[in-house]
Amino acid sequence: MDRTTCPADQPREACGLFGIYNVPDPAPIIYSGLFALQHRGQEGAGMAVSDGQRVRQFKGLGLVSQVFGPGTLDSLIGNLGIGHVRYSTTGSSRIQNVQPIVVECVDGVWAIAHNGNLVNAQALRQSYQEAGAIFQTSTDSEVLVHLLADPMFRTRPRRVARALGELRGAFAFLIMTRDCVMAARDPYGFKPLSIGRLGEGFVFASETCALNQVGAEFVRDVEPGELVVADASGLHSSVFAEAPASGRGGQCIFESVYFARPDSRVFGLNVHAVRLQFGERLADEHPVAADLVTSVPDSGNSAAMGFSRRSGIPLDYGFIRNHYVGRTFIMPEQAQRTSSVDMKLAVVADVVRGKRVVVVDDSIVRGTTARRRVAALREAGAREVHVRISCPPIMHPCYFGIDFATREELIAARRTVEEIRAYIGADSLGYLSIEGLLAPFGGEAAKNFCQACFSGDYALDVSRMEGKQALESGALLLNLDGGGPERP
Ligand code: SF4
Repeated sequence: MDRTTCPADQPREACGLFGIYNVPDPAPIIYSGLFALQHRGQEGAGMAVSDGQRVRQFKGLGLVSQVFGPGTLDSLIGNLGIGHVRYSTTGSSRIQNVQPIVVECVDGVWAIAHNGNLVNAQALRQSYQEAGAIFQTSTDSEVLVHLLADPMFRTRPRRVARALGELRGAFAFLIMTRDCVMAARDPYGFKPLSIGRLGEGFVFASETCALNQVGAEFVRDVEPGELVVADASGLHSSVFAEAPASGRGGQCIFESVYFARPDSRVFGLNVHAVRLQFGERLADEHPVAADLVTSVPDSGNSAAMGFSRRSGIPLDYGFIRNHYVGRTFIMPEQAQRTSSVDMKLAVVADVVRGKRVVVVDDSIVRGTTARRRVAALREAGAREVHVRISCPPIMHPCYFGIDFATREELIAARRTVEEIRAYIGADSLGYLSIEGLLAPFGGEAAKNFCQACFSGDYALDVSRMEGKQALESGALLLNLDGGGPERP
């Protein structure tokens, strides 16, 4: 499967991270943390646990609850560990790509778990391969292992910081040795990563919902460009990369729009509260006379509530979600995706019949799902259907770990708002403005956030950004699967 045969109709995240240090029996806690982060990746899960001497790992394809059985957790003995849930853009059935990646270097075991996308991974990989290195996975994440093992970094002080400093792009990393856990975010801060306190120990998680799940107290976020080390002497912080000279940050605004759980605190604000404001602002920017507001559950719920509150139009359940069907984008095959879209949302006909309905959703990627939902509302008897989207039109691809689709597949890259309205069959269509999107974070917020998928203004040079695509291209997978490059 590749990007062209599996276009996304919703944005797709790549991973969730959870780490823990100095807590007895960490495996069940990591399990709970990963369970809380399941929405960030559903195709694979893994964890590595250390007792200070030995590192044990277990990983598999599927949901957290499918990968880890009780016997598995019992075998993961220790007092520190890291875990990972993965959504992969391609190579989805490859167990090798499930993280943490655990390797034995000349000086011991290292385990790494990554959320994001490295824009210079392909170049780094090629240079190591030309020098004779062998890669186990088709992920961009693995280059960090090779940097850590490289004598150029291994034999120098601040080895991890120097290795991280070689990476370009979006990353939150958890790194574990036999006796410590490290956490780092790239200098732009694309991906969220928080620190919590649990008893005498420390916890790291992509989202604070995972801290809450395990009873940890939120301490603070890992700062962009910061390396935090939890070891026997406590928590230590250092800067591995200075803030970008441009003064720009890269916090992914899509975490607040779609990915993060509403009960999480991301980039300093509660996600539900931010989405409420998106909805209020949307009502101001695109008012409409209507009888009811409904959300596309679940990610549209908070914004729909905000729209309803501001407009005074009652909120009701126009759609009911079948919670026993996973998010559509996790389905690896197009056929599965198509049928699961139909299966996961049902229209409540008695609610919408004869009504002028405002439907609030988080985004439109290709437009096919929005079109189907508008049609379903009309078939159920809705008199008018007005679509409101709690982000601006997505016109550009993301190179930083969110797999929307190629530019050709993005409907807003090819059509005007009016043309999209006509395509999806709505009576009106309104998108939140970029100003409205950033408003909850305050006036200075714009420079701290990435909004490139809306504006095309990338914080990093992506002109040679073929990394993820090239790394996970069908050709490379064939090589890794045994085809191999031609030999002389
Ligand atoms: S391009 Fe969009 S999805 Fe990607 S990091 Fe930037 S804001 Fe997030």
